[in-house]
Amino acid sequence: MNEPEDAAVRRAVEPVICYPNETLPEVPLGHFLRAREGAVKTGEVMVPPRDAACFRVPAGHFFRISSVEGAQVGDLNLWNAADLSERFYSGKTRALHGTHISTGERMWSSFPALRPMATIVSDTLNWYGMDEFGGSVHDVIGTRCDPYTGNLLSGAQYHHCCHSNLTRALADELGLTLKEAEPHVHDVLNVFMCTGFTRDTGQYFMKASPVRPGDYLEFFAEIDLLGALSACPGGDCSSEHTSDAAACYPLLVEVFAPVARALEGWESPSLNEYDGSHGR
Ligand SMILES: [Zn+2]
Repeated sequence: MNEPEDAAVRRAVEPVICYPNETLPEVPLGHFLRAREGAVKTGEVMVPPRDAACFRVPAGHFFRISSVEGAQVGDLNLWNAADLSERFYSGKTRALHGTHISTGERMWSSFPALRPMATIVSDTLNWYGMDEFGGSVHDVIGTRCDPYTGNLLSGAQYHHCCHSNLTRALADELGLTLKEAEPHVHDVLNVFMCTGFTRDTGQYFMKASPVRPGDYLEFFAEIDLLGALSACPGGDCSSEHTSDAAACYPLLVEVFAPVARALEGWESPSLNEYDGSHGR
């Protein structure tokens, strides 16, 4: 290897955070949690194993994703219910909050809106933190399991990857063909999934999710949302996905409405204020 003489010096330079997030709009978590106290359940959807389902959450309502029956990972897509072109932006969420998100952190939307779509208000897996392998829960580093990568790596024709499940669910919800629905499916929040990057090779890894029945991740909807959740064919993602080999369980989505005036003073976030002129 033709390392320069000062290689060690260059490597020793201390990193700086790309996007210091102290100037992000403050999360009124206390306000949200007080509003949640009196909230009333307005609906639920049970997502079948190796399949997906859509759900709708009005701005100012809460939604909870719960593990039921067994350890199961979920792949979550979110869209602005009134405009599918505004959707969850996994990469920018990662840049702002890090590889995994939890209480008080947000799911941000795509350009040009770039605003909070949902804020995590409760996470029963908060205790997990970062394990000795560099693994943590609820990542925004994976994409979603999909039949194309499965085919690339093993020649398989498997039809119940999260990508396909989300495509079918969105098509059914909106009366679209699969071809019309597929381009709207995007990189997910990996709910309950335990993942990281290996320290030596930097490869994406997964390990058995620490989730157990009764655990949940709960969100406050910042805008009117259309959501789709897939109960990944990987089950707890301890061994493999893109097959029917793993034990899979349903996931429960519940929606809660706050009582009147509980959110007084809160406003749905406005669109990003960049003027869009790009220097012309
Ligand atoms: Zn999956």
